[in-house]
This record gives sequence, C-alpha cells and structure tokens, in this order.
Amino acid sequence: MKPKIAFDLDEVVVEMCGTALKEIFNPYFNINMSKKLWLSYHFEEVINSLHPEKLEKPLTFHDFSRILKENSDNGFLENLKPLDYSIETILKLESEGFDVSYITFRSTLFYNKPQERTKYWLEQYGLNPDKVYFSQDKSKKMDELGVKLMVEDMPHTALKIADDKKVLLFSYPWNTKTSEDQLLNKKTRAEKHELIDMIEADKNITRVYDWKQIYNKIHEWKDNQISF
Ligand SMILES: [Mg+2]
Repeated sequence: MKPKIAFDLDEVVVEMCGTALKEIFNPYFNINMSKKLWLSYHFEEVINSLHPEKLEKPLTFHDFSRILKENSDNGFLENLKPLDYSIETILKLESEGFDVSYITFRSTLFYNKPQERTKYWLEQYGLNPDKVYFSQDKSKKMDELGVKLMVEDMPHTALKIADDKKVLLFSYPWNTKTSEDQLLNKKTRAEKHELIDMIEADKNITRVYDWKQIYNKIHEWKDNQISF
C-alpha cells in the first residue's frame, strides 16, 4: 500500500499570510505590519496588541473572518503563490509512490466559494484537486483517510493530531516563542507560550523549517515508522 501523507494548505503549500497582510489587512487598518509580527494564530489578538490605536473596540475572531471574506473576492485565493519548493517536492513525492492529500480549514466562514477557488489553484500547479478535503477537524479527517502523518503550522491543530499521529510543524512566529512576543498583550502571550511549551514537549511533533527538511523527514518516517 502507498504510504499516505497529508499537507495543510495555507503556510505549508501556499503562502497566504504575507499576501493577506499586504493586500487585505494592512490597507484595511492602515498599518504596515510584516509577517514576522504575525505572532499569534489569533490574528485579531495580534492587531489588538500591536495596533490598539487603530481600533474603536478590540477585534474579535468574527471581525477577522469577516474582513477576510469581504476583501477576498478579487482573485485573492486564486493568485496566492506556492511556498518555495512545495510544488516540486509534492510532485516528487507522488512520483516516488506517496499518496498525497491536502486537508484545509478554508471554509465559507473566511471566503466565498472556498472549495471551487482552492481546487482551481491546485489545478493551476498540477496538483490533484480531487485530493483536497475541507474540514474543521483535521485529526478526524486523517483517521477517515487512514493518514498517519501531516504537515501543519497551527499549534492547536498540531497538538490534537499528535494525540495519536505524527506532525511535522512548519515553523512560524505564531508557533514559536520569539523576542517580539513581548509586544503581545499579557494574556495573549501567556496563552501562546503555554501552547508552545506543550508543542515542544510532544514527541509526536517535529519542527521543520523548509520543504527540503519536510522531504527528508517524510522519508525518515517512511523508512522507520516507529522512531521519528
Ligand atoms: Mg496553515
């Protein structure tokens, strides 16, 4: 049987955050934030911490998803760029016999027509649009598909999958303790650090920094599914 692996899309296969800042959030709030300062996966809390002067009242998750949805009908999803070497590596893994799936949180909460637009994007890059799954519970979807290894960047999701499966955590400021974390409000920072501590202690989670490492780790896992 082919070894099965799954990839998250945003910030694993596709570069989304930098483009969202540049095209949507920076203009919307009239700020100039860099991706390096996307310090928590609760993006609304990053804005609340770093730019309270721009807000009449603190942003909620609902505000974040609404702003994204209202400003992404102009080809935002269709025109996102792949991460360096993501496409080449996926095609190589497929040619080597791996069964590749994509599991994403993208939903109508954040976008209009997310499924259609995502499949269009995959096709543009020669990836199989029939292998993308839209799910709020990635761990459950992996179980349904019989997948035991996933590349993910979101801390909560990684921890949940790691209960009984393996995760390669693509390293980003929102899943790493950084010196900029002092800019976050105390509560946001404390919650973030508590999650990161759990991630660092979890033997089923391995941090990776680029697609070359992802490729090597996938082969290590395939060759020896016990110690990883
Ligand atoms: Mg992601």
